[in-house]
Amino acid sequence: MKKKSIYVTRSSMPPYEEYIKAIKPLWDSHWLTNMGKYHKELEEQLKDYLAVPELSLMVNGHMALELAIQAFGFPDGAEVITTPFTFISTTHAIVRNHLKPVFCDVKLNDGTIDADKIEDLVTEKTVAIIPVHVYGNVCDVEKIQEIADKYSLKVIYDAAHAFAVKYKGKGIGTYGDVSVFSFHATKIFNTIEGGAVSFSDHKMYEKLYNLKNFGIRGEELVTEVGANAKMNEFAAIMGLCNLKYIEHSLEERKRRYDYYKEKLMNIDGICLLESATESDRNYAYLPVLVGREYKRSRNELYDLLKVHGICSRKYFYPLTSDQACFKNKYKNVKLENARKLADNILAFPLYEELDFGDIDSIISYIR
Ligand SMILES: *Cc1c(COP(=O)(O)O)cnc(C)c1O
Repeated sequence: MKKKSIYVTRSSMPPYEEYIKAIKPLWDSHWLTNMGKYHKELEEQLKDYLAVPELSLMVNGHMALELAIQAFGFPDGAEVITTPFTFISTTHAIVRNHLKPVFCDVKLNDGTIDADKIEDLVTEKTVAIIPVHVYGNVCDVEKIQEIADKYSLKVIYDAAHAFAVKYKGKGIGTYGDVSVFSFHATKIFNTIEGGAVSFSDHKMYEKLYNLKNFGIRGEELVTEVGANAKMNEFAAIMGLCNLKYIEHSLEERKRRYDYYKEKLMNIDGICLLESATESDRNYAYLPVLVGREYKRSRNELYDLLKVHGICSRKYFYPLTSDQACFKNKYKNVKLENARKLADNILAFPLYEELDFGDIDSIISYIR
């Protein structure tokens, strides 16, 4: 018998019968999309759960990010200070808005943008800062806001990893001008595909509504040029069902995270990359740094685990700034820490149903 593979993550799904029952009304109403009943309901429940004043659902996290940036109407060619240590979507969203990414180095201890290095990168062309709460680790939100205020910049957080995270008792989506979440199947909360933008200014709701629905404001009225980025009702219902189990899911992740942590702690050269700030964690990922004291390189460890059917991930390698489509195209900034992280990081499997026995095997291979 072929040995089963263990993937880095596994999509959360509600009980089958529950979802089937929940989508039944769609066969009566035939209302499948266009800001239907369940779209509204999920927006309300997420506002409440994420503790944010306003929220707009989107078809996916990437379009949420693209449209959130577009909503500010920055001039073409303007500069945006951002991190290269992220999923490619962050940089694509900037470039697809005809803006120039200026890559800033990150902190070695948690992978978030190094706020102390932002100010040196500000020029007359800078319009915004787009940091990422990478792995759910909270950015230095106070320092970033200070710089933004000083130079009148917008702050757009890529909070794709930060679902359910709170900082100083406030929802993570309340920091900055807007925050963007992803509800992709591989994220801790999913609507199959989906995303959202959170903000506090109600005008932003109207703006994003136009951008996600062709700018249509009436049967015969289109007021602006918009895209199509609406979340459909099947996805919204998946979200409503999954949201019921989110607390359980977070607890199960934490149990597994703590279990890993205890066992990994006494392996030389293996070190967890954890949040430096005191915030509620969501245990979305389990990133470790493979140091020099470990007997093998990161790539060797990755290969070794793969031989045993364990799929770890080099999150995030290469840096987005080093990808074929962006390499040597933008301002050359020293990215020492980001490079070091990208070269030595490895994310281990972590999800709510991950078998503790499987964690034991993973640990023993690492050993
Ligand atoms: C997942 C992710 C996105 C994109 O979200 P999708 O829902 O997959 O479109 C953007 N940024 C980061 C950091 C992500 O991890």
